[in-house]
Amino acid sequence: MSELYRIGLRESRDLLRSGDIRAEELTAACLARMDETEDALGALLARRDEDALEEARIVDTARAEGRIPSLEEAPLWGVPVVIKDAITVKGVPCTAGSHILENFVPPYDAFVVERLKKAGAIILAKANMDEFAMGSTTEHSAWRPTRNPWDVERVPGGSSGGSAASVASCQCAGALGTDTGGSIRQPAALCGCVGLKPTYGRVSRYGLLAYASSFDQIGPMTRSVEDAALMLGVISGYDKRDTTCLDAPVPDYMSGLFRRDLHGIRLGLPREFFGHEALDLGVKAACEEAMNCARSLGAELVEVSLPHTEYAVAAYYIMAAAEAGSNLARYDGVRYGHRADNPASLEDLYVRSRTEGFGEEVQRRILLGAYVLSSGYYDAYYRKAAQVRRLIRQDYDDALKLCDAMLAPVSPVTAWKLGEVHDPLQMYLMDIFTLSLNLAGLPGLSLPVGVSNGLPVGMQLMGRPLDEASLLNIGWTLSHELGTEGQAASFPR
Ligand code: GLN
Repeated sequence: MSELYRIGLRESRDLLRSGDIRAEELTAACLARMDETEDALGALLARRDEDALEEARIVDTARAEGRIPSLEEAPLWGVPVVIKDAITVKGVPCTAGSHILENFVPPYDAFVVERLKKAGAIILAKANMDEFAMGSTTEHSAWRPTRNPWDVERVPGGSSGGSAASVASCQCAGALGTDTGGSIRQPAALCGCVGLKPTYGRVSRYGLLAYASSFDQIGPMTRSVEDAALMLGVISGYDKRDTTCLDAPVPDYMSGLFRRDLHGIRLGLPREFFGHEALDLGVKAACEEAMNCARSLGAELVEVSLPHTEYAVAAYYIMAAAEAGSNLARYDGVRYGHRADNPASLEDLYVRSRTEGFGEEVQRRILLGAYVLSSGYYDAYYRKAAQVRRLIRQDYDDALKLCDAMLAPVSPVTAWKLGEVHDPLQMYLMDIFTLSLNLAGLPGLSLPVGVSNGLPVGMQLMGRPLDEASLLNIGWTLSHELGTEGQAASFPR
């Protein structure tokens, strides 16, 4: 069978433009790859096979007639992508992994989807996820868990586990994920992909079903840094429909890549991360190898400190739950999705629709959110957490004065077995290395840096506000020297 499905975003783009491959054969190869792998992986929810093939044929016809849009106009012309199910695509069911939205078909495209379509990308499917992006394993999807293509007994990470598994198993050239507390970076790490969480406000959240609005960001998940740069350029930019979206110029993220050394670059190593007791030795060793590689490429490595790291998990889970409780109040059984049968009263309608529609983890967060915002507890929890958030941002600002970017582990361990972590608190603690970046609103790039016991290890580069370009440039150089890009493409063996 054709192995066309293995090619990434930039390469497919070039081969489609040059006419070396046709969009229909590429799309068909990805769809066949989905057929071959989906039973084992469960990475996808709604698929749009027929529409995708039709769109691909339109690209091929245009090409045959010599109507080829410029690279600026359509940088992803004919390129197949997958979208996390928290992001709306007009006319395609969108559930955010939840029963409460089981029949919801959005009448509009998210900003990022508008951008992808305008760029010529072909949307193949929606990706499975933890319900409303709450989770770190994709076991909390209301539909079915997603499995890790490296070992299907193991979790792919979460909450964008469907996007990560889809990219890692080469069902698509690239995908979109969302990151509220690590949900792009951590599944990317656990599946051996590249994942970029942009600066808060870099990418519009219009059309993203909200979890915790002051943290949520959409970003690319790909098999190479170059592809992440390409996709970020497409989805970034100002959108007045998201009032937190920044009106800042979008650099050409591709133009700074391809440097072979890291001379003149200072990389900070946060002491609280690398010295953390939860950090697995195999993960640490792979990160250390990457650090040595950075050093050998000319980078200067300096120790830095993020002194409030130990409070990040508590602050995040208080604030994110508070925001989630407010955001999810809109699912009332009246306006969208699931509605309980034969309600006895309005209250009964609310209570039963929500009880039936939301899963256990989501209910836990709503209760926690209501609690930390309730009078008498607001000052003790929510306000305190907000203060800690400010201190964490200050830590990052101070550390990033001493270096151009920081290096850190993403997940303390490699992918674990399904069902292995069942205590919610233990699960929350797994996010220790990703959450603080979201509290600070800063960009982070997760890169595959090696393998430990046969499972991929990711490392993240954390940077200054709106400095995604430096992370991508450094990430490109490092991953090329390490030879870790695209290492996930071997499933099924
Ligand atoms: N695991 C974290 C949570 O459950 C982060 C999830 C995310 O980034 N969406 O909140």
